[in-house]
Amino acid sequence: MRAVVFERPHQWAVNEVPDPHPGPGEVRLRIVVTGVCGTDRHLLAGGFMARYPLIPGHEMVGEVESVGDGVEGLAVGDLVAADNTVLCGHCEYCRRDQPLYCQNFYSLGVNGPGGFAELVVVRAEKCFPLGNLDPMVAVMTEPLACAMHGADVLALRPGSDVLVFGAGPTGLLLSQLLLHGGAARITVAAPSEHKLELARAFGVDETVRIGRGDLTEALPRLRALAPSGFDVVVEATGSPDLLAQAPALTRIGGTVLVYGMADAEDRVPFSPYEIFARELTIKGSFAQTHCFDRSLLALRSGRVRTEGIVTDVVALDKFDRALEAVSSSASVKAVIRP
Ligand SMILES: [Zn+2]
Ligand SMILES: [Zn+2]
Repeated sequence: MRAVVFERPHQWAVNEVPDPHPGPGEVRLRIVVTGVCGTDRHLLAGGFMARYPLIPGHEMVGEVESVGDGVEGLAVGDLVAADNTVLCGHCEYCRRDQPLYCQNFYSLGVNGPGGFAELVVVRAEKCFPLGNLDPMVAVMTEPLACAMHGADVLALRPGSDVLVFGAGPTGLLLSQLLLHGGAARITVAAPSEHKLELARAFGVDETVRIGRGDLTEALPRLRALAPSGFDVVVEATGSPDLLAQAPALTRIGGTVLVYGMADAEDRVPFSPYEIFARELTIKGSFAQTHCFDRSLLALRSGRVRTEGIVTDVVALDKFDRALEAVSSSASVKAVIRP
């Protein structure tokens, strides 16, 4: 089969590689569509647990093409969204019912073979049938599952005034969950007018145009919106510069949610006195596990909307175009259709 292979940091190719074969309890999927996300860029740069050579792609939708021994409840031809996380079940955290912190965290498309390929092998129990959901909507299942976990972590107090930095796929999905999860008002701040327009179409109350990682011009508007600060500030872009400004925009007793992925080397200066004296809470949200069923339900019901998020549909051998789309402000999300 053909697959995108990250060979070493900053070097990738589309290669002919051996077809994977499903073992007991596994199925082989023919990839229908796999989403490209910022994590893939971090992986290509050598960050975030990357193990080379790597077939990336962790937001996978495929058609069951063959099943291994002992697989029940899935048949050839079923369309499924595949949860890319594989948990060991026996480490310290798996044994204390905190599987997301699995010390042997294995994630297809991150440190195991993923979905920028014609075929992928996944555990049968990680496959969630789409029913009649359009695969181009279902490709948002994994990012929305991550947002679902973010909403779990945040445990938003109903009536909260929320500011979200970022209107990429992640910001747009998480904002909608918080909007329907009891926020009194959601403000989304991002540099691209086109993405802010999408945010408004999805129902957010206020949008504020900011610079890339820069709030200089937007600060008066943000302060005018919430003179005492926002109850919750979500950083969903991975920018350390935006995160550095989040505490000052948070109300006394409020919460900052670190949702976007920064580089491991990034540092953010903040005032411990401010965290102490204003009793701020800082929370982190990393990936997801066990959130796929809720995510699919929200996509099926239309409670979380996705129209307009996928802007670029790219073939495997045009992977460079997908990478460009991830960093371009004109694109929102690229997907690979092998
Ligand atoms: Zn992703
Ligand atoms: Zn484990």
